[in-house]
Amino acid sequence: RLLANLVHELGRPLGALKAAVNVLREGAGDDPALRAELLEGMDTTISHMEPLLDDLARLHGQILGNLPLNRQLTHLIDWLPPRLPPWRAAAEEKGLVWHSQVPADLPAIAMDSDRMAQAVGNLVSNAIKYTPAGGSVTLSAGETGADVWIQVADTGPGIAPDEQEHIFEPFYRSNRHRRFPQGLGLGLTIAKEIVLGHNGRLTLHSTPGEGSTFTIHLPK
Ligand code: ADP
Repeated sequence: RLLANLVHELGRPLGALKAAVNVLREGAGDDPALRAELLEGMDTTISHMEPLLDDLARLHGQILGNLPLNRQLTHLIDWLPPRLPPWRAAAEEKGLVWHSQVPADLPAIAMDSDRMAQAVGNLVSNAIKYTPAGGSVTLSAGETGADVWIQVADTGPGIAPDEQEHIFEPFYRSNRHRRFPQGLGLGLTIAKEIVLGHNGRLTLHSTPGEGSTFTIHLPK
């Protein structure tokens, strides 16, 4: 609700500013009194918009919080498989092929299982959302060196190199996927914050046209 309100509150003054710019462009700038009045109005409008930035920052803080984690030693083989059926069902309902592979012998990791489920869930739901029917989504886990990893790979549209650095930013949504029902642009931001809170890393490998692979690396 706060966000909807902010969108509304930002839209109104932006419309007023745009109108004032158009009036100035169409010649009102030649009349000194009218120009001064318009500029004064624009200045006031901009001042009114500034507190909205504070609201946005507060909203960001509320959503991400300072992330208190309740970490417990967890074996992925006990934790991950019970969570798979709803994801599998969502993928199959969309006409995607679902694969999953979780080895039984991975070392236990200290994690907040609810928060980590939220992070993996966000990756899975993006993979399902952005991959057209007929494609596939693969969830796998494994270990390399000092890390245990959980990976979500899809055969969707992929993410262009120039967008890869931005998609983890709050409220970022690609212009290229307008035909998909996008969310608020917070799913990956939240996933990344959760993984960082576990001293881990969230990496992306993607080739446009071939798919995207997101990997959560967690220290053993
Ligand atoms: P949204 O709520 O828009 O899905 P996210 O933070 O989860 O926000 O993702 C940000 C953007 O990254 C999306 O709008 C989309 O453009 C892109 N994206 C995320 N996951 C994928 C994926 N698996 N395949 C293609 N693009 C993706």
